Amino acid sequence: MAVVTRFAPSPTGYLHLGHVHAAFVAWDAARRGGGRFLVRLEDIDPLRCRAEFAAAALQDLAWLGLHWDGDVRQQSEHFSEYRRVLLDLAGRGLAYPCFCSRAAIAREVAAAGAAPHGADGGILYPGTCRGVAPGEWAARIARGDAHAWRLDMAAALDAAGRPAMRFREHGAWVAADPAPFGDVVLGRRDVPASYHLCVTHDDAVQDVSLVTRAEDLLPATHLHVLLQRLMGWPTPDYAHHPMLFGAGGERLSKRDGSVSVRELRARGMAVADVLRMARL
Ligand code: GLU
Repeated sequence: MAVVTRFAPSPTGYLHLGHVHAAFVAWDAARRGGGRFLVRLEDIDPLRCRAEFAAAALQDLAWLGLHWDGDVRQQSEHFSEYRRVLLDLAGRGLAYPCFCSRAAIAREVAAAGAAPHGADGGILYPGTCRGVAPGEWAARIARGDAHAWRLDMAAALDAAGRPAMRFREHGAWVAADPAPFGDVVLGRRDVPASYHLCVTHDDAVQDVSLVTRAEDLLPATHLHVLLQRLMGWPTPDYAHHPMLFGAGGERLSKRDGSVSVRELRARGMAVADVLRMARL
């Protein structure tokens, strides 16, 4: 089967060289393998994402010659699908609504005298809402109480069962160890979805067979493999690439103030030069 890759930016700003690098890696893998290169806009966060940045990202990719196949998928148009997954997991006792505010969680953890951290860097959730009976949480949701949705990690690991979970990273098998994430948030309080949920759902429905992305997301892959197992989705191959650029697009080795693709273009830089800068 021909490879299917994707570039999945969050339109929170203009594309910078780090994005160009990520897009190029995915595009190149698809073109070399005679496969398909997809573009997906990960825009579930209404406060941080803007339509103007989404449109600009597509214009920049086209300008760079990194043409994509098929329609661009926009996550904000698919909340009902993500919601279905949450309710499916909850119905199987693998996810539960959490009514705790961030401050309440911090207070509870502080009172317990320790603040263990989860694999995603946040405080490990102490499980306060895990034991709430479904009848009770359904009533609280019905009366409009704000809530997130959390994975019940212990139940999920039980349900995942055997054989052991693993994924291929650059062709080598890696054992997946999602436990350090604890009862991670799958649906946020503000939007009924999360990065982890959407990315695994969409990679599955879009038949992505090779996920290329920056290595800061390698730890998350351990959790993604668990979600794939729970939902019966295939686990794609992964190939995380080094981060060459900081969050603002600056070179990590030398802060040369690299800027957005738009600005490089406005300065008269040729496509070939932008691609060369981003491939180093
Ligand atoms: N939307 C994510 C980002 O912009 C990338 C997600 C992924 O490639 O899995 O960092």
